[in-house]
Amino acid sequence: MARIACVAVEKALCRFDRLYSYQIPTDMPLQAGCRVLVPFGRGRDRMGLVVEIAEGDDAGLKSVRRMADSEPLLNAEGLMLLRRLREDTFCTWFEALSVLLPAGYGIRPKIGWSAVRGTEPDNLTGRESEVYALLLSRRAPASAEEIADALGLADCSGALEELAAAGLVKSDELLVRRVRDAAMKMVRLTGDYQRVKTTPRQRAVIELLEQAGCASVREVCYFSGVGKSVVDRLEKAGAVEYYEEEIFRSPLSPAPVQEEPPAVLSPEQAAAFETLARGMDDPEGRTALLYGVTGSGKTQVFMALMDKALAAGQGVLVMVPEIALTPQLVDRFRRRYGRQVAVLHSGLSLSQRLDEYKRVRQGLARVVIGTRSAVFAPVEKLGLIVIDEEQEHTYKSEAAPRYDARQIAQLRTRWNRGLLVLSSATPSVESYYRAQKGEYILAVLAERFGQAKLPDVTILDMSAQEIPCEGLSLELCQEIYYNLQNREQTILLMNRRGYSTQAACISCHTPLECPNCSISMKYHAANGRLMCHYCGHSEPLPKTCPRCGSAFLRYTGLGTQKVEQELAERFPQARILRMDMDTTLRKDAHQKMLAAFAAGEYDILLGTQMVAKGLDFPGVTLVGVLGVDQMLYSDDFRSFERTFSLLTQVVGRCGRDILPGRAFIQTWSPENPILRLAAAQKYDDFYREEIQSRKIHLYPPFCRMSCIGVTGEDQQKTLAAAKAIAVHFSGLLRESYPALPVRLLGPSPGAVLRIAGRYRYKLLMKTSRSPDARRALWALLLWAQENLSGVSVFIDPDYDSF
Ligand code: ADP
Ligand code: ZN
Ligand code: ZN
Repeated sequence: MARIACVAVEKALCRFDRLYSYQIPTDMPLQAGCRVLVPFGRGRDRMGLVVEIAEGDDAGLKSVRRMADSEPLLNAEGLMLLRRLREDTFCTWFEALSVLLPAGYGIRPKIGWSAVRGTEPDNLTGRESEVYALLLSRRAPASAEEIADALGLADCSGALEELAAAGLVKSDELLVRRVRDAAMKMVRLTGDYQRVKTTPRQRAVIELLEQAGCASVREVCYFSGVGKSVVDRLEKAGAVEYYEEEIFRSPLSPAPVQEEPPAVLSPEQAAAFETLARGMDDPEGRTALLYGVTGSGKTQVFMALMDKALAAGQGVLVMVPEIALTPQLVDRFRRRYGRQVAVLHSGLSLSQRLDEYKRVRQGLARVVIGTRSAVFAPVEKLGLIVIDEEQEHTYKSEAAPRYDARQIAQLRTRWNRGLLVLSSATPSVESYYRAQKGEYILAVLAERFGQAKLPDVTILDMSAQEIPCEGLSLELCQEIYYNLQNREQTILLMNRRGYSTQAACISCHTPLECPNCSISMKYHAANGRLMCHYCGHSEPLPKTCPRCGSAFLRYTGLGTQKVEQELAERFPQARILRMDMDTTLRKDAHQKMLAAFAAGEYDILLGTQMVAKGLDFPGVTLVGVLGVDQMLYSDDFRSFERTFSLLTQVVGRCGRDILPGRAFIQTWSPENPILRLAAAQKYDDFYREEIQSRKIHLYPPFCRMSCIGVTGEDQQKTLAAAKAIAVHFSGLLRESYPALPVRLLGPSPGAVLRIAGRYRYKLLMKTSRSPDARRALWALLLWAQENLSGVSVFIDPDYDSF
């Protein structure tokens, strides 16, 4: 019996993406979780990951060429997550690997060779002395490929290894060196990048950015081995764009001076803590729901749990739904836990991410805060995972691998026998259902902490306005005026979908559409350009209508910018802070703006969703909500849940201290039951209605809803492929899985038919959470990849939106 490496190979097409077996040379100390170079097909050696080491007969197998890592990148838990990701989310092995490692790791580790000076070589072969002479002539380390290219050789790894054995050359992993960049000019892909024709060197940059999301220009040049001119040309071609880094406080910055001692919990908080702490002692690994109204002190409760875990020598992971919410929490945790805190999110530069990742891996940081992908942080002895605002859709990844951080967290706490705490003022219907059924431990905080009371909420009927208006109602203006008089602060929320100004032609009424998407572009006054919010395309405002040539374009809809103007006109004395995509792109923007508002430098904070969540400003006594109607009537089965949650959160932003709060919701549909329930802040009543409706219409949690997405550049072809899938899949289910309860819906167009030049259709499958359902979907995916051309097909196990 011999040891056999079962290897996932990089860049294998999905239908060839299985594990391949290789012989392990007897003297190679190879372990599962290491990367290797293996011969593959007829091309060059490929990078692979050893997923498993098996025992068996290795006769006739090709053998592993070289180890790329001396230590495994993934431990047993990591390998378990890798398998589950691949199986459950219908992705390739390397797609799964890409989220388990920070971006820098996913890149082929470049080994740099340099000559050891001052030694006398003898007995060298011709090739070896050639290589040695070349390295002597160089100041910087060179990769094996560079050396081979310079000498016109096909391969020089043999010579290098001989030279290394003789102590004449040494190698370094180029990756691990720090990349410094004072200016931090950042670069990221635009929505148009796939349409740009690229050279191989440009391709390398794009591949890096596909993995990393964003990186500093220096890092891009460094990691992909190109000069800055290559990136500049990509920018000119519109494939990438430059921006300044948004720096969020890194734990590497000096610790704040004042320390935060543990709080004395209120009796209600203490009871919730006890309930959850019992779950932590359960050796099985449990999931709990901490359901507490806004301002009830959920953070205090889970900090007490964190203390307990840390005292027991365990690590802790705290997840937040978006980057903007990390600074507040990081500050707080830093005051309590000092340098043990690490932050992981996609707004950090590549080297910051690598640094933080290493601190976590080495056990230097035992408290990790981060957004979605931080759920994979390599925390050892993970005793506690907290997912704050667990209902947020940002925990679900909408690109491959299409995982849900909540499910990954569950896998991890089960593996580590730890506790997962889902925390929310408005739990997702699915989580609350499971808590009601006793699957999850339930802890409740029904009261706000201390003197604070929940605010009074009033619904304002916009259709009953004496003077019809789009923007601010008379009542809301009066309240704002009152607040200005009393020097109290106000938050105004504009819903995301309704917040922008569209441009349309006055003569022919044609809206100005994005050339790549079937969606109208929005006008941004800040830069005077039209922008597409789906693909990022932007262009200057045309002088005339592209369809009829008329010179009159008008703006409709309500934008944050328009409301800001209206406020400025009505209240010239007010100090207004606007926060939206346009104003927060700048360096440090979020943090500075929020700090200024907290310090009382502004009277009114006007913004999109980003002002609704998690913020704690004692001086705010008034909240106004504008443009909620579009959200209510979107075609998504979670739209009621989302509206309810958003309203509850934003309303919860006021009256958090001694001063009582009040909130006003402007709407054209005042009779809507969801608005009434949100105004009354009765989550339990909302839940009862919503769960009934989910049951009647068969939506999660009463089924699992998976999505089969088909996209392509040609509309007819894409639709035809979607129809072929429907036919084939029905047959497959009938023949091979007759006992599986399934309802297949569609094909129907995606929520937006065309994005970035691709048409989008979807099929939905309602079924149970069974291995058979997964097998059927895998069979379908492989069939589609083999039989359909000109389209791409993906499967999302848990449909959220498409
Ligand atoms: P939630 O996350 O539930 O909205 P927070 O944890 O932000 O609530 O708490 C709301 C406010 O009440 C915060 O300012 C917090 O410092 C304060 N608070 C909550 N519990 C306590 C406590 N036990 N002792 C002191 N202050 C508390
Ligand atoms: Zn026109
Ligand atoms: Zn677009």
